Amino acid sequence: MRYGPAGFVPTIIERAEGCRMYDENGRPILDFTSGQMSSLLGHGHPAVVETVSRSVATLDHLFSGMVTRPVVGLAEALARTLPESLSKAMILTTGGESNEAAIKMAKLYTRKHEIVSFDQSYHGSTHAAGAATYSLTRAGYGPVAPGNLIIPTPNSYRSVFRTRNGEHDWQAELDFGFAMVDRQSVGSLAAFIAEPILGTGGLIPPPEGYFAALRRKCDERGMLLILDEAQTGLCRTGDWYAFQHQGVAPDILTLSKTLGAGLPVAAVVTSEEIEATCAERRFMFTTTHVSDPLAAAVGLTVVRTLEAEKFDSVARRLGERLTKGLRELQSRHERIGDIRGRGLFQGVELVMDRDTKEPADDYGTAVTAACFDRGLHLNIAQMRGVNSILRIAPPLTVAEEDIDLALDILDQSLKSAKDAA
Ligand code: PMP
Repeated sequence: MRYGPAGFVPTIIERAEGCRMYDENGRPILDFTSGQMSSLLGHGHPAVVETVSRSVATLDHLFSGMVTRPVVGLAEALARTLPESLSKAMILTTGGESNEAAIKMAKLYTRKHEIVSFDQSYHGSTHAAGAATYSLTRAGYGPVAPGNLIIPTPNSYRSVFRTRNGEHDWQAELDFGFAMVDRQSVGSLAAFIAEPILGTGGLIPPPEGYFAALRRKCDERGMLLILDEAQTGLCRTGDWYAFQHQGVAPDILTLSKTLGAGLPVAAVVTSEEIEATCAERRFMFTTTHVSDPLAAAVGLTVVRTLEAEKFDSVARRLGERLTKGLRELQSRHERIGDIRGRGLFQGVELVMDRDTKEPADDYGTAVTAACFDRGLHLNIAQMRGVNSILRIAPPLTVAEEDIDLALDILDQSLKSAKDAA
């Protein structure tokens, strides 16, 4: 089946290793999408390869409610990296289903059904996760699950909510959003689901203090806060979890993409109290691969590798180098309107004009194509209506020289794509 988001390049990739992919002709291409955000440790990390072959040979798959060491080990390892309140984990395989499970849990626990999210959210393609996803088109698929509501994404670069001196008035924006929610709600608010830094929605880090205020709005209404760290979790942003720098903890955390370092592994983590109540109410979420020992073994290897090599500080250090390089490019390329993100999770928003902020959609597509021709794969974060935000997210194992090489290729491509227009 064909699918083709903007920036999709139908080149056949023969193999991948470390931070590079190789096409049919053996041409190396730096992968600064991390296999679209999943290959956190680079392609074919030796510890992951070893885990997969050992696990397949000894304990590949059991579906009979059996408990295995890797599942217990991963649940314990995740709890070690999280605040005490997040101590109960369920192991799954994809991001969409992790959010399905989280939403079902929130509904069962609160005995309510309305789910609120940002208007640039992305939580998966499945039914409930898809109903809470607004960064992609919802047209053409008939009715979505009832009871889904949105508030404006706190996008400091583009928000229309401004103070007199032009600053982003995110508190007014949040108040407005919840005033609309309260007006539309049928009195059944169950949860708010959000990414702590929106990825697909345009690489948007909400302003400092925002999540604490959001948490208060949820608490006042008896809503749970579900944070989806599919893209941001597990050291990518320079902290173990992106919610840490916002100083809040969720009631339910979902992890996927990065947890599998290229393989399908996901987790839903919550408190003892929510888990116990859901169990009492006969919470049901079963899939062929729930508690899969292979998936859990891979996740455990990922967490252990991140811990052993202190990848949170590695991502912070490399992120500083990347940001510095991007800022330098911004000083020379007037079409770079905004640079934002944390650690190795950076967005570059391209505009036709810095004053009008007119999105440079065609230019963004041309820049990614020019980068690819020069051996650098970047992708566009597909914010609805704006296709000109480059997402720069190399594996955490990237070498400093490869960051410099990528910056150099981006520099040349920003120029050549402009000259060609
Ligand atoms: N949540 C977020 C934040 C994501 O970025 C994605 C994948 N793009 C998903 C959920 C869905 O994950 P999956 O594709 O594994 O179902």
